[in-house]
Amino acid sequence: MAKQGWEDSEFPILCETCLGDNPYVRMTRQGFGKECKICGRPFTIFRWTPGAGMRMKKTEICQTCAKIKNTCQTCVLDLEFGLPVQVRDSVLNVQQVVPQSNVNREFFVQNAEREMGNQSLVDYGKADSAAKEVLKKMTRVEPYYKRNKPHICSFYVKGECKRGDECPFRHELPVANDLSNQNIKDRYYGQNDPVAQRMLNRTDKPNKLGQPDDKAITSLFITGVEADITEQDLRNHFYPFGEIKSVVVVHKSKCAFINFATRSAAEQAVEKAYNNCNIKGHVLRVQWGKPRPQGPKGDSQTEGGGGSSSSSGGAGPSGSGSGSSSGQMSLDDLLKMPAMLPPPGAVPSVYPSMDPTSFGTTSRDYRA
Ligand SMILES: [Zn+2]
Ligand SMILES: [Zn+2]
Ligand SMILES: [Zn+2]
Repeated sequence: MAKQGWEDSEFPILCETCLGDNPYVRMTRQGFGKECKICGRPFTIFRWTPGAGMRMKKTEICQTCAKIKNTCQTCVLDLEFGLPVQVRDSVLNVQQVVPQSNVNREFFVQNAEREMGNQSLVDYGKADSAAKEVLKKMTRVEPYYKRNKPHICSFYVKGECKRGDECPFRHELPVANDLSNQNIKDRYYGQNDPVAQRMLNRTDKPNKLGQPDDKAITSLFITGVEADITEQDLRNHFYPFGEIKSVVVVHKSKCAFINFATRSAAEQAVEKAYNNCNIKGHVLRVQWGKPRPQGPKGDSQTEGGGGSSSSSGGAGPSGSGSGSSSGQMSLDDLLKMPAMLPPPGAVPSVYPSMDPTSFGTTSRDYRA
């Protein structure tokens, strides 16, 4: 009866909040009731009321799409932590795997369906425990039933609702905020999600970044440099802090170096942009750069201009000496990185290891 590749399921994948506090929820089920808002394929829609006085909810994305990202089919929040995909994936440092163009996405989702069985595509359970602690701190412990409240009454807003207490909608004035600009695809892909960005900005990271003792360091290491952020965008963003000597963007590693002419400019940039750097809707992370290897260890190739030249001797990508544990990064380190892998120093040490197998997708390459 089920068409090939069409989903036909008996029960939805839901978070506790969307399900509501009534353990005996009655659901209506409609086979192939609508198209999934991510992959566009028809899927089984469930509708239910998650508790007295709450609004009716329904599933919005298909089970395959939900399983790929381990999210609820209705609110598209992560099932384990109840957090936006963007928050979870940036803390766990998981890469985006679902292609966004229609053709590639359809192929991807069908393959994933076959390979996944009942698990999610990325093994989030394998993430390092420190990173999980960070997520747990950001998570609400209890289900957040306010999210199930009825929508605001549009007649009330215009001052025209005559239904009073009988009105099933909320009699409140809407508050314009980031939430009203959210979009289900962005939330699913974990990008440009204003709510996630706000959460990431206020995590209990220190609000200041210490200064490296080495006063010769005048460069900043920027991560989260998405493909649409150009060198010029970075210049425009950072020039107010002082004269910039050079900007090096490495898109394949999503990072960049801003080399300031003076230390005081770099310090000012760190002071203003640390935990507060947003370009074209992307949140970028700002850290101090690392000095180039020099001094007593030999391998002294100090000045000599821009390129990485041929200094191939010495440490490999992972063991680049003392600096790597402090989260600093040099251009030389970066250029030795394999493509697509974030550099080891790019994120604080609380993130899971950069072991490619921890992404769970190494055996198949879905990038299009
Ligand atoms: Zn889908
Ligand atoms: Zn939910
Ligand atoms: Zn009303």
